[in-house]
Amino acid sequence: HIGDKRPVIRQLDDAAINRIAAGEVVERPASAVKELIENALDAGARRIDVSYADGGKTLIRVVDDGYGIAADDLPLALSRHATSKIDGSDLLNIHTFGFRGEALPSLGAVGRLTITSRVVGEAGAMIRVAGGKMEPVKPAAINGGTVVELRDLFYATPARLKFLRTDRAEVQAIGDVVKRLAMAEPFVSFTLRDVSGGGEGRLTFRADAQTGDLFDALHGRLRQVLGAEFAENALKIEAEREGVALTGYAALPTFSRGSAVMQYLYVNGRPVRDKLLVGALRGAYFDFLSRGRHPAAVLFLECDPHRVDVNVHPAKSEVRFRDPGTARGLIVSALRHALADSGHRASTTVAG
Ligand code: ADP
Ligand code: MG
Repeated sequence: HIGDKRPVIRQLDDAAINRIAAGEVVERPASAVKELIENALDAGARRIDVSYADGGKTLIRVVDDGYGIAADDLPLALSRHATSKIDGSDLLNIHTFGFRGEALPSLGAVGRLTITSRVVGEAGAMIRVAGGKMEPVKPAAINGGTVVELRDLFYATPARLKFLRTDRAEVQAIGDVVKRLAMAEPFVSFTLRDVSGGGEGRLTFRADAQTGDLFDALHGRLRQVLGAEFAENALKIEAEREGVALTGYAALPTFSRGSAVMQYLYVNGRPVRDKLLVGALRGAYFDFLSRGRHPAAVLFLECDPHRVDVNVHPAKSEVRFRDPGTARGLIVSALRHALADSGHRASTTVAG
């Protein structure tokens, strides 16, 4: 009789809840890198140094010079749904990368996490959590800022560990995360290095200035991240419509690519992979590119945070516009104007 097998309803413990959440927030080493860099940026860091070993599988370390975490707050930073970034009253009024309070507890549930931090005027401290088990806070030597070290990612969830791709694929994904965040923060210096030997993944994006003209800084960063050729073939984009602002650089059609690798799109400073925006970009270049070619562009949309919901997915790479037509129309018209003004003919008039 089936009634005999009726299961009992139980409340899961925190460690289990965090492991489940981690499945959504931390898909792979690159997602951990993303969360940790975003935390450093939210903490006002001017310099962020990322290192990893074995494709991030055995070690990810992010060092920042941000405002740090007070010793007393360290256990809270590792608790689920604990955040210093919102008060919960207005989930659409978000000005930081983080707000869900999920990244650190998730990482601590699936790996071995050590956070060492110091706020100005106080002593440094560290906390450790592994597989969801938290150790007490201890004093630690650190000059300032925060060091987050994540070892043995997914050791506590062997199923996830099995699904990880090759170190090479993970190194590629980590590099992509660093590039996309660094592009949006041209006043912040970033380094990335592989401490397990291979020098392939090494990146250095120095901020020449910490303030000044945003377009100059952006152009400098564009050159560092996507290369001199893109920077030299880039049209400056600056447009506005109905309270939505668009800025950035779009490459001349002659600098198109065979894939969409050089499409960096942002909404309110957050890197997004959004079908609507990618579609608008494609639409803008439609008459200027032959089939199979993809435009290269770095575009920043800025609007009142109430007009866009970033809380669609735990990784926050998807957004939902209240009025998608405005964003789309703005991108298409601004880019088409820039391309037409640049004197480039539509590809349909060019042989081949
Ligand atoms: P969220 O970023 O959504 O708030 P996290 O779990 O990523 O959640 O971080 C929890 C809290 O820990 C943050 O709200 C912040 O107060 C603190 N924190 C995390 N990383 C840093 C850092 N690098 N520097 C300063 N504070 C940090
Ligand atoms: Mg965070």
